[in-house]
Amino acid sequence: MHSHVDLLILGGGCAGLSLASRLSELGKEAPQVLIIEQKETYTNDRTWCFWDIEEPAYQSLTSHAWSKFEVANDNRLDVYNCIQHQYLMLESHHFYQNALALIGSNANIQLMLGQKLLSDPIKTEQGWSIKTGNSEITATQVLDTRPPKQISHNDSVLWQSFVGYEIQTESDFFSPKQMVLMDFDHTFKSGLAFIYILPTSEKKALIEFTVFSERILSKEELIEDLNKSIAQKIAGSPYEILRVEHGTLPMGNKLPTKNSDPSYVFAGLFEGGARPSSGYAFQRIQSWAKKCAHSMIASNTLCTLPRDRWLQSFMDGLFLMVIKKNPTIAASLFESLFRKCDLKTVVKFMSDQASIPDCLKIIRSLPPRPFIEALPRFIIERLYNRFRLN
Ligand SMILES: Cc1cc2nc3c(=O)[nH]c(=O)nc-3n(C[C@H](O)[C@H](O)[C@H](O)COP(=O)(O)OP(=O)(O)OC[C@H]3O[C@@H](n4cnc5c(N)ncnc54)[C@H](O)[C@@H]3O)c2cc1C
Repeated sequence: MHSHVDLLILGGGCAGLSLASRLSELGKEAPQVLIIEQKETYTNDRTWCFWDIEEPAYQSLTSHAWSKFEVANDNRLDVYNCIQHQYLMLESHHFYQNALALIGSNANIQLMLGQKLLSDPIKTEQGWSIKTGNSEITATQVLDTRPPKQISHNDSVLWQSFVGYEIQTESDFFSPKQMVLMDFDHTFKSGLAFIYILPTSEKKALIEFTVFSERILSKEELIEDLNKSIAQKIAGSPYEILRVEHGTLPMGNKLPTKNSDPSYVFAGLFEGGARPSSGYAFQRIQSWAKKCAHSMIASNTLCTLPRDRWLQSFMDGLFLMVIKKNPTIAASLFESLFRKCDLKTVVKFMSDQASIPDCLKIIRSLPPRPFIEALPRFIIERLYNRFRLN
């Protein structure tokens, strides 16, 4: 059997489904799209959080919002009011259900589940070709959102590794209006470690143990610290684990961008999706999906995730170098940032919306010394990398 589509999307995760959802809104005008996904079914496998700024995408599907957050370092605890820009939680099963409903409403868009693509499409006269089972599919364009087949520690400046349990306790331990953004754990020696707590009721919370480090840390390497942190937070009381969440995000991805043929475009976490200084990717992927769908309508071309603006990229790169060289001071940098800079500016910066004056305010809120010390090496490395890539 042979079939031809306008667009083949490899990987039906956040990026693949986001673009397909935007295209499905075009009704009959939508191109013929086929999404190939290795999962058999979608589950609640991750929790996306982001700040409420300028009506973020999927705001209506969010299931929780926090109007206060904590940053704790050593014995100091700061509580910030973020009622103007709440921290929102989108459970992935709600995102997947919404995407499947949108895709299902448009006959031009098809999703093939349980299909793990083992080889890359090849270019033939009919277009990009792949084989699934006993059928051949050709496509005019391909969007590849699969993560790299192999990842090594050197592929990113730092890695964000985390493992979390959604737990249910017997007694009240949490405040559902106040989340813990960062509670630093200085006993952990292989990177910058902190606990992240998303309480959804007095007795229920997602608690994650997160580390920024040069090495990718496995779930097994983090689980003991997670258990210890939970025991501390709830004073050793019993709890039930409702769900486990785990991830590894690149912070300062060094993998070369793979796009060379405009009809075969890469997108997703490893293709500009992850913000270098935080690993956050959800909102960036949504902005890209919107732009890419417009580009498909206007000129029938796919687009890649945009490069970060120069100043933001410079600041993120320098920040990563500072915390890589000296993870012990990183906690105080975050503490200083939240204490000295107004929250709106910090939220804009974290959401890729900072203007030049906002960036300058961020710079002024941080102690200059570690950045000035790291600057010469940072500039040399940047120039060297630019020279090497050219
Ligand atoms: C647990 C977790 C929590 C996160 N929380 C946040 C957050 O709070 N805020 C934020 O901004 N970002 C967060 N992120 C980062 C980022 O938003 C997500 O990783 C996001 O899912 C990235 O989208 P993606 O499409 O690149 O990858 P994915 O969503 O992982 O999609 C890739 C898809 O490709 C499929 N695939 C892979 N190989 C093949 C193959 N050979 N054949 C067919 N299909 C294949 C996979 O099954 C998957 O569905 C989180 C990440 C994780 C893992």
